Amino acid sequence: MERIAANVSGPNEISMIQLTFATGNPNKIKEVAGILGKSYKIESLADIGAPLDLPETRGTLEGNAKQKAEYVVDHFGKNCFSEDTGLEIEALNGAPGVISARYAGPEKDSIANMNLVLQQLQGESNRKAQFRTVIALIQDGKTHLFEGILKGDILLEPVGEGGFGYDPIFRPEGYDISLAQMPAAEKNKISHRAKAMEKLVGWLAG
Ligand code: IMP
Repeated sequence: MERIAANVSGPNEISMIQLTFATGNPNKIKEVAGILGKSYKIESLADIGAPLDLPETRGTLEGNAKQKAEYVVDHFGKNCFSEDTGLEIEALNGAPGVISARYAGPEKDSIANMNLVLQQLQGESNRKAQFRTVIALIQDGKTHLFEGILKGDILLEPVGEGGFGYDPIFRPEGYDISLAQMPAAEKNKISHRAKAMEKLVGWLAG
């Protein structure tokens, strides 16, 4: 495990565990650093001088999460974790899945993506879906995977203004509102990402 001295001046020296989070999203870095607390130093791709758009070509959430973490280990020699998320719809055999961001085209247009899903589910009574996040941690050469799932169903039309991506058409199990109608703090408690992150943090805290 990579440790750095946060205070090198005496016996009260605090050692911090240094980890790179392979993301270009500063909000995600802030969120994870906040959860992990002061014994961890979380660096972003920008902090280590890595490209922000790492290759994601493996065709599965697990594969892509590992690919991004491996890139950082191979090119920068840093312990690293990375995440990948997708919306998996039962009646569409798991689509859009790993291509959720670009389902309707390379523009990553959330409205076009939602419209395509709604069109493909027209007349379909099975509207079960889930968001799934996979985190790959590579620490001291070993890979560990953590998964978080949020189950729910796809609404007939978009509802709500909050959130991002597919939130307006996704109703989490046990709720009668869409994710886009839910306060961010509540979504962050139940989300696929939060569940995967909790598992990672639990593992790191050992
Ligand atoms: P990423 O791996 O976090 O970049 O997520 C890939 C894509 O999945 C995003 O571009 C969104 O379209 C979708 N997505 C991921 N997480 C969420 C979420 O919490 N709500 C709605 N859509 C999401």
